[in-house]
Amino acid sequence: MREPADSAGVTTGGIVRRCVCPGSFDPVTNGHLDVVERAAGVFDDVVVAVLVNVAKKGLFDLDERIEILRDACSHLRNVRIASFEGLLVDFARQNEISVVIRGLRAMTDFEHELSMAQMNHRLTGLETFFVATNPEYSYLSSSLVKEVASYGGDVSGLVPKQVQERLRGRFEDGRSNSR
Ligand code: ADP
Repeated sequence: MREPADSAGVTTGGIVRRCVCPGSFDPVTNGHLDVVERAAGVFDDVVVAVLVNVAKKGLFDLDERIEILRDACSHLRNVRIASFEGLLVDFARQNEISVVIRGLRAMTDFEHELSMAQMNHRLTGLETFFVATNPEYSYLSSSLVKEVASYGGDVSGLVPKQVQERLRGRFEDGRSNSR
């Protein structure tokens, strides 16, 4: 991909190395952020893309997820936040992205990730690079964080402070309403 300096103003000898980190990010965890930070250390331009899934209502709506991600990634100059609906390969093509970054936690992630990567490659030649999770976060998922927080468990150190506060607000309201 050859082009002049883009909005982020970063090029490598005229070639912008751009990748996408797609996901639901409902909500973003420190495991996600570790993957994004590591991608930002390798690629010139990193697009964190929030999947809009009309069939699945999350705990946080799209605007909140984007706002949280913007705040959590504000220290990374070459990272920007976007959202997409439909096929990732279409989003990638429209944004001139040739590499997808996915985090791999355990063998349980592997089967699904492998078939998705192979399908994306077959569809448009989109490549997938896997980042091995930081062992500190290998058990961490958005759904587990939500479950623990819903019962009042401590999720500090697992999610950004802003997420922790939003989760507390969300679930405290729920618990006091059900009393
Ligand atoms: P999806 O619904 O697409 O799996 P997620 O928001 O759950 O969306 O995850 C987005 C990406 O982040 C995936 O590649 C996933 O494997 C990765 N990921 C999630 N949690 C972690 C973690 N704790 N460590 C490393 N990667 C992770």
